[in-house]
Amino acid sequence: MKKTIPFSPPLIGEEEIREVTDTLRSAWITTGPKTKKFEEEFRRFTGAPAALALSSATAGLHLALIAHGVRPGDEVITTPMTFCSGVHVIEHVGAKPVLADVEPDTLNINPVQIERILKSSSRRKKTKAIIAVHYGGHPCDMSALMKISRKYGIPVIEDAAHSIPAKYKGKLIGSLGNLTAFSFYATKNLTTAEGGMLTGPAKLIDKARIWSLHGMSRDSWNRYSGKGSWFYEVVVPGFKYNFTDIQAALGLVQLKKIWQFHKRRKAIIKKYNEAFSKNTGLQRPVERKGLESAWHLYPIRLNSNKLRIPRSQFIEEMKKKGIVTSVHFIPIHIHPYYRKKYGYKPQDYPVAYGEYQRLVSLPLAPCLTDSQITRVIQAVNEISREYIR
Ligand SMILES: *Cc1c(COP(=O)(O)O)cnc(C)c1O
Repeated sequence: MKKTIPFSPPLIGEEEIREVTDTLRSAWITTGPKTKKFEEEFRRFTGAPAALALSSATAGLHLALIAHGVRPGDEVITTPMTFCSGVHVIEHVGAKPVLADVEPDTLNINPVQIERILKSSSRRKKTKAIIAVHYGGHPCDMSALMKISRKYGIPVIEDAAHSIPAKYKGKLIGSLGNLTAFSFYATKNLTTAEGGMLTGPAKLIDKARIWSLHGMSRDSWNRYSGKGSWFYEVVVPGFKYNFTDIQAALGLVQLKKIWQFHKRRKAIIKKYNEAFSKNTGLQRPVERKGLESAWHLYPIRLNSNKLRIPRSQFIEEMKKKGIVTSVHFIPIHIHPYYRKKYGYKPQDYPVAYGEYQRLVSLPLAPCLTDSQITRVIQAVNEISREYIR
């Protein structure tokens, strides 16, 4: 049996290892000079006014809600087609998630569905934020979302966990919305093993920064570096969400390579798209005109009217051929916690639920070789041929 092809392995080079070693040999290993430098370089890269490095994207989304003043009793509109932590943070601030179904082509939150929710005056009064996920790295319809934002005075928080480097009308994601959270988790397009970044207006980022480290009025680097004083004041009951210089060492090198990584992702996407163009058993992911996806994922959708194989069996067959796939995402409203708490039924969000049942994400990472990609393509096309109606 051939070696297993992993789903999304990280690509860490000697340069990253050298930079981490350099940090370990230095006098500072937690939030310090390299974190500051990484924040500044990431800020410049996205073109955002300010940036805050954090322990995760989840922490970023949590602090974004806090910075926008979302409180118990409020409501936050978001998508069912997301990772659970993007909805957990709404629960963490004591607010209620209100789901808006997704667009059939991009699987991003559908602005028309958001408008439908906001038609109700009680909903309109309670809604204090919208969390939009750029699914798979494909930007949401930001002009429609920002129009809703202006019309109702509701901030749009972007979950950009998949979106380095995605562009909307020529601008990088991170520079558009009211606050944007990125993830540097091990499988993401840029990794620091664990980590995240929040970008946006300086005033909101300053507020999030205080909440990110115990609610202290100045950070510990300033206190201990010799520049600051021993004195600090606790102004809010904050969290422990800071980023370390060991993570920043990885991030600084990864950021330099991001366009190279992106180029490789696009080359793989081109291979997949060409190889599946005549496969009627599946639907390929789209990229709308006027924008550029970060191509974090390559989610195919099985055409059940053409294939006699359920999605779960398709995944098993791929596994038998030594290929690891995944599903993005199990919709929020069918997870027991949310289903029980809010009484959701699968058909409440028919697009998310229907598409979920036929989604399969194929392996995608810059370090996958051409021969590995060819093996994935052959496996998908072989299974499709075997089960075509
Ligand atoms: C990975 C992911 C997250 C969480 O990122 P962390 O950095 O692990 O907190 C949030 N939302 C989406 C859509 C994700 O894919």
